[in-house]
Amino acid sequence: MEKWRAADRLLKFSSRFASAVNWNNSCKSKQEKYFYSVATTVHRNPLFSSISPDDISYFKTILGERGVVQDALALDAANTDWMGKYRGSSKLLLQPKNTEEVSQILKYCNSRCLAVVPQGGNTGLVGGSVPVFDEVIINVGLMRNILSFDKVSGVLVCEAGCILENLIFFLDDEGFIMPLDLGAKGSCQIGGNVSTNAGGLRLLRYGSLHGSVLGLEAVLANGTVLDMLGTLRKDNTGYDLKHLFIGSEGSLGIVTKVSILTPPKLSSVNIAFLACEDYTSCQKLLLEAKKKLGGILSAFEFLDSDAMSLVSSTTFLGTENHGQEVIKDKHGQDFTSIDLRALPLEFWYSYASGSIFM
Ligand SMILES: Cc1cc2nc3c(=O)[nH]c(=O)nc-3n(C[C@H](O)[C@H](O)[C@H](O)COP(=O)(O)OP(=O)(O)OC[C@H]3O[C@@H](n4cnc5c(N)ncnc54)[C@H](O)[C@@H]3O)c2cc1C
Repeated sequence: MEKWRAADRLLKFSSRFASAVNWNNSCKSKQEKYFYSVATTVHRNPLFSSISPDDISYFKTILGERGVVQDALALDAANTDWMGKYRGSSKLLLQPKNTEEVSQILKYCNSRCLAVVPQGGNTGLVGGSVPVFDEVIINVGLMRNILSFDKVSGVLVCEAGCILENLIFFLDDEGFIMPLDLGAKGSCQIGGNVSTNAGGLRLLRYGSLHGSVLGLEAVLANGTVLDMLGTLRKDNTGYDLKHLFIGSEGSLGIVTKVSILTPPKLSSVNIAFLACEDYTSCQKLLLEAKKKLGGILSAFEFLDSDAMSLVSSTTFLGTENHGQEVIKDKHGQDFTSIDLRALPLEFWYSYASGSIFM
């Protein structure tokens, strides 16, 4: 019954939240956005109001001076996406320290009809984390506590603002790893990872976040806190609302806590960096690797010869002209620490049509 009520509340308020995101502007009334390759003009929804001095005072009573950011430099960074392709004109960045503050912010914004955009590490690359117009930016980066870690089950519970790399370091000390690892790990937040359903390097072995995330806490647009922070791997008690939030890119609410299943760290890592003639050879190699290595194959990535030339011209990897290159890391660990010594080279030799280089 409680889950039903939660689902009802979710549906009731999500459409408003979704439309609130990226639809407000006091400076401009329209902006060109690209959906696929088609330019679309997005108009500011006139129903949304603009920030007033009273709003600022209210937010300061909830968050204190530190949590209400109006500094031009900080706002410029928060308004601009990592690629520099999208720029909003928000005048306000809010930094709550706990779920209750997130709830109070959203409740107030909802009552005042102020548009909001959730932002994590702003590494999303597609403009989803920056305002289109003058939405209030809400960043949970100050919510960065690890709440619990159970060594027996491998379940980590943490706040959504934890930087992925910090979680990786924490788990490393405990003899575990995060089931996801991606290039933006030094900046992206676990809440952002969940909201984008980011896959990353370890997806092949550990699956998507729909499998690893065991529970979530999220706040809806009207301030309602949804507690879905289960830690059970097998939980078949009815609807599983958390899955709606995984990959919803902030359109349903703000993720505030995450419970995630983490695998134990393995004792050795082998990486092969191979040259293939063409894409078909890469596919054959993958198929064979899956057959021969089974469950211990954790990552398989390829780069084409243009990318390889760029790498060769800027790193120690040499300047030979290769075709398609394949990186293989049996445990999904750091690609930069290539260790070929423990690799069963005879296996890879037979599938690499070019040379193996170190
Ligand atoms: C759809 C998608 C898939 C991606 N997959 C990969 C991948 O597989 N591998 C890889 O290396 N990189 C991937 N990226 C790029 C980037 O590394 C990820 O986006 C990263 O997980 C984002 O984390 P972040 O904290 O920087 O979030 P941001 O870039 O700040 O935000 C990304 C989106 O999530 C929302 N959001 C952020 N935090 C919250 C929160 N707490 N609650 C609710 N919504 C929030 C934002 O509004 C925005 O829509 C992907 C990006 C996108 C958009």
